[in-house]
Amino acid sequence: MFRYKIIVFLFLLIGIFGFNFVEAQENTLSLLGHIIYVDAGHGGLDPGAMYKNIKEAPINLEISKKLEEALTKKGAIVYMTRTDDNDLSIPNASNHKRSDLNQRIKLINESNCSLYLSIHLNADVSESWSGAQVFYDDVNAENKILAQFLQAEFSTSLKSKRKIKEISNLYLYRKVTRPGVLVEVGFLSNANERYLLRQDSYQQKIVDTIVSGVVKYLNR
Ligand SMILES: [Zn+2]
Repeated sequence: MFRYKIIVFLFLLIGIFGFNFVEAQENTLSLLGHIIYVDAGHGGLDPGAMYKNIKEAPINLEISKKLEEALTKKGAIVYMTRTDDNDLSIPNASNHKRSDLNQRIKLINESNCSLYLSIHLNADVSESWSGAQVFYDDVNAENKILAQFLQAEFSTSLKSKRKIKEISNLYLYRKVTRPGVLVEVGFLSNANERYLLRQDSYQQKIVDTIVSGVVKYLNR
């Protein structure tokens, strides 16, 4: 009888943990089969927004690399428009910025990505402005839906009071045929966020928040 009880107990254990293992794996690989393009804004000659000697471009890259890692862990195939401090413009381009953006657009369009995420930092003359905000172009109906999912996460996880914003011809992204958004993850012009945006732990919090929104959007 005692032996029988042990066997039943062991089967129960296998049942509980075996089931949890399968469930955990499915949960972990919730982005399996998806290609996601992560586009770290600016780089090279273009530092993006600046506050004294603090540049937007390298912070965008740090966050984008963490995003690449987190999305990969969920099973996604992740492509990056840049992985170092170089922009994508072709040598001797007459319009440096336009050439850089055109290369980004080309890369994203030629991929078969489920979506792209452009990572940027905001800046305003008013130092009181703060909060993560998602911008989208209405060229693609999916863009607004993705923006809503991400902004909802920013609202709950990061307590952002900002709302999604539609901008026509956003950053030349009107030419992008894949769905996607531009995420301004915080304000470099706000003292508190300027501090937080350079902390590993806060960058990871932003990344986890974005990943959560992406998972909800793609599995809706
Ligand atoms: Zn920017």
